[in-house]
Amino acid sequence: MKIYADNAATTKMSKQAIDAMIPYMEEIYGNPSSLYEIGQKAKEALEEARERVAKVLNCQPREIIFTSGGSEADNQAINSAAKVGAMKGKKHIISTTFEHHAVLHTLKKLEKEGFEITLLDVHSNGLVDLKELEEAIRPDTALVTIMYANNEIGTVQPIREIGAICRAKGVTFHTDAVQAVAHIPVDVEADNIDMLSLSAHKFHGPKGVGVLYVKKGVPVFNLIEGGAQERGKRAGTENVPGIMGMAKALEDATNSLEKDTAHLLPLRDKLIAGLDAIPYSELNGDREHRLPATVNFCFEGIEGESLLMLLDDKGISASSGSACTSGSLDPSHVLLAIGRPHEVAHGSLRLSFDSNITEEEIDYIIESVNEVVTYLRNMSPFWRDLMTGKRPHVFSE
Ligand SMILES: *Cc1c(COP(=O)(O)O)cnc(C)c1O
Repeated sequence: MKIYADNAATTKMSKQAIDAMIPYMEEIYGNPSSLYEIGQKAKEALEEARERVAKVLNCQPREIIFTSGGSEADNQAINSAAKVGAMKGKKHIISTTFEHHAVLHTLKKLEKEGFEITLLDVHSNGLVDLKELEEAIRPDTALVTIMYANNEIGTVQPIREIGAICRAKGVTFHTDAVQAVAHIPVDVEADNIDMLSLSAHKFHGPKGVGVLYVKKGVPVFNLIEGGAQERGKRAGTENVPGIMGMAKALEDATNSLEKDTAHLLPLRDKLIAGLDAIPYSELNGDREHRLPATVNFCFEGIEGESLLMLLDDKGISASSGSACTSGSLDPSHVLLAIGRPHEVAHGSLRLSFDSNITEEEIDYIIESVNEVVTYLRNMSPFWRDLMTGKRPHVFSE
């Protein structure tokens, strides 16, 4: 059996999204800034795609900026808000300890430039505490940036409430919604969001294209100097085929969201129950407030990399965390943020599937993880120390 269970890293493009792109490479390949027909046709398609994306997010088309993906949108949102804040003497930013590196590294850079950064604790359940957020907001707070759903453990934050707190205090609120949009309902108006990042390749659209939503009246600066595309907020010839593919993938995912969620939830919970039954294993992140298709576990006495390699031999593509962390010896900053000790954080497994997953495949995953974990533990001197009591267990059986 072949199972791609790393949809949080990237997804397979849908046939519909591919089909939506092809005419803009083969026929309507003009530059949207050109005045002749194939340029103007590309421009029309671009503006129509903007309307379609805006409709899904429940905002105005002029509030949509097309970017090269989630990382660029995060960078632009945070750097913009920092610049606006600094002009008013506000140099404090609030975020969390387990954001994506596109956010955390941007904040690190701003810290070196004199900003003060408060990273809120996400506690053992992977959720921020609203009271702690409220207490962290100061008169000089320029921005709150908190991700909608976490890419490693899949927990979903109380975004609507966070947005309401920020609005009441007059602080700009940005959310990295790359894992949320097209996976759970997201509505920028109802959710009180000022700025939002999304990325097409996380919902069966193409790589290298995304959106930064900026609410009307919230100032935003360009990250890239050049032409006047995107109302001067994002220079560079627009990625028309990519944008068309993204709009199609976003609409399709949104239209089938209810049906897909109803299919996914029982399978996700079956997977959680199956992996929970493995001795000395624990689910990472809250059981209830989580994405419908992302599951992350820690296994005591296991090295994540070996686990992934043996699962690959069984035809299962999975991950131990974010693409940026795997391959390095440091354990995931997300797992450390929820309080997992180093030795346990190394034994993590993220399984992220899509709506095509079947119950038979879930059963196969549970069976395979069971086998591989048992095999690796039997070979591990570390595990022997745990079993003989030479070393204390972190988890209970
Ligand atoms: C994938 C991801 C990003 C980066 O998006 P790209 O389009 O790959 O740049 C940012 N944030 C989160 C939460 C992600 O999962």
